Amino acid sequence: MYIVMVASECAPVAKVGGLGDVVFGLSRELEIRGNAVEIILPKYDCMRYDHIWGLTVSYRDLWVPWFNYRVHCTVYFGFVHGRKCYFIEPHSGDNFFNRGSYYGFPDEHMRFAFFSKAALEFMTQAGKRPDVIHTHDWQTALVPVMLYEIYQHAGMGNCRVCHTLHNVKHQGIAGENVLWFTGLGRPPYYYDRRRMGDDFNPSAINFTKGAIVYSNFITTVSPTHAWEIRHTEWGYGLGHVLHVHQNKFGGILNGLDYEMWNPESDRAIPHHFNAENFLEKRKNKAALRQRLWMNDDEKPLVAYVGRLDMQKGVSLIRHALFRSLQMNAQYVLLGASPERGINAQFWQLKHELNDNPDCHLEIGYDEELAHLIYAAADILVVPSLFEPCGLTQMIALRYGTVPVVRSVGGLADTVFDTDHSDRPLHERNGYVFYQSDNLAIESALDRAISLWHGRPEAFRDLALRGMRCDYSWNRPGADYLNVYELIRHK
Ligand code: ADP
Repeated sequence: MYIVMVASECAPVAKVGGLGDVVFGLSRELEIRGNAVEIILPKYDCMRYDHIWGLTVSYRDLWVPWFNYRVHCTVYFGFVHGRKCYFIEPHSGDNFFNRGSYYGFPDEHMRFAFFSKAALEFMTQAGKRPDVIHTHDWQTALVPVMLYEIYQHAGMGNCRVCHTLHNVKHQGIAGENVLWFTGLGRPPYYYDRRRMGDDFNPSAINFTKGAIVYSNFITTVSPTHAWEIRHTEWGYGLGHVLHVHQNKFGGILNGLDYEMWNPESDRAIPHHFNAENFLEKRKNKAALRQRLWMNDDEKPLVAYVGRLDMQKGVSLIRHALFRSLQMNAQYVLLGASPERGINAQFWQLKHELNDNPDCHLEIGYDEELAHLIYAAADILVVPSLFEPCGLTQMIALRYGTVPVVRSVGGLADTVFDTDHSDRPLHERNGYVFYQSDNLAIESALDRAISLWHGRPEAFRDLALRGMRCDYSWNRPGADYLNVYELIRHK
């Protein structure tokens, strides 16, 4: 099968969160299974160009119709750790992708509406006729809409679309102008609630709703989250349209790229290890402590890695820090927030705790440091309020770090409490709590820290059980191929 991923991120060249990891990992798995896979991305100025091999111009003059004129683009090709990637660079005054960061601009919906249109134009003009186009989140949600309404009449009639919802909090909300710019036009037609008219804001076009209506199949990134976004407030208003289209909607758990996340060969960690020589892991803990100027005492190391977003349970992340220190453990945090208020709050905390040799807060984005933390820590906390899938707990398991998670979304599908679970013992791999208050996280974190102090061998066995879980792309890769096969023959 010939599959084209159209996405706003791909790890590690352009990664903000889990979406980038998924595009990277799933593409490789599909390729291993004998499919031809290509990825189309915007050519951002701030990408990690050091991860692109052999970047060359592939298509010099791509003209993309935009409003009543055409935008000149150049398409580049390069390999990202073996994946075939195309990068679209528009040459226009809007300067859509030369802004020093990936997201966070007032014309966001225009930037990605343009990218979606340009990707379709590129495929059409370059003669690419994939069996399946796989799009991701609101940024590329207009692809299925434009494919059906415009490009199927330009020779793309046999392409099918699978759209994945990674985070429905962000849906792509725009006004009428986006219809005129993309060439869709006809506002009354698209504002219809059965198409892209937002269910709660009559003057808004909702990109994600468009993808749900127009795609041949919609997935989200875990089975539990598939239920949550249909039936609870975590659907952010999409419950109804998902209900209407329930026959083409399902949850497929994300996988983890086991090549990129491999404690046996990870280039970002000084001491490689596996379940057989697990003691080597301790050397990474010493290395991290040395790097962050922390005490090297006989204490467990608790960590948090991830965006500092309300979604991630910031107050619990903070509480876990104080609780860890109280429980005679150390705490390391690596995270950044696009929201100034949250960033300021953690900077303040960092200053307050500056002299404490048992904790370290690193506020920013640092891919290499993240790898070292996963390899060094004993316990990783993931106290999310909602979590579509969550990769950090899976990475932790792979690196023999015991996850302490709140039971939501993909966290509920991947972590099973060692003391209280209906799963067989060999599947119990961490600690789980349910409510979102301080006592709840303590009920799990205290047990983890106490086990480390009181019964180190039992703690090690728990970590080893985690390492033996298989959260690779093997199974989800097969699941996605089943979906592609299904829609191809419809
Ligand atoms: P989300 O997609 O909501 O951000 P996930 O858990 O699905 O959350 O994916 C987060 C990914 O981003 C993981 O690979 C994690 O290691 C990485 N990550 C998040 N924040 C940082 C950071 N500050 N520095 C390095 N890596 C980070």
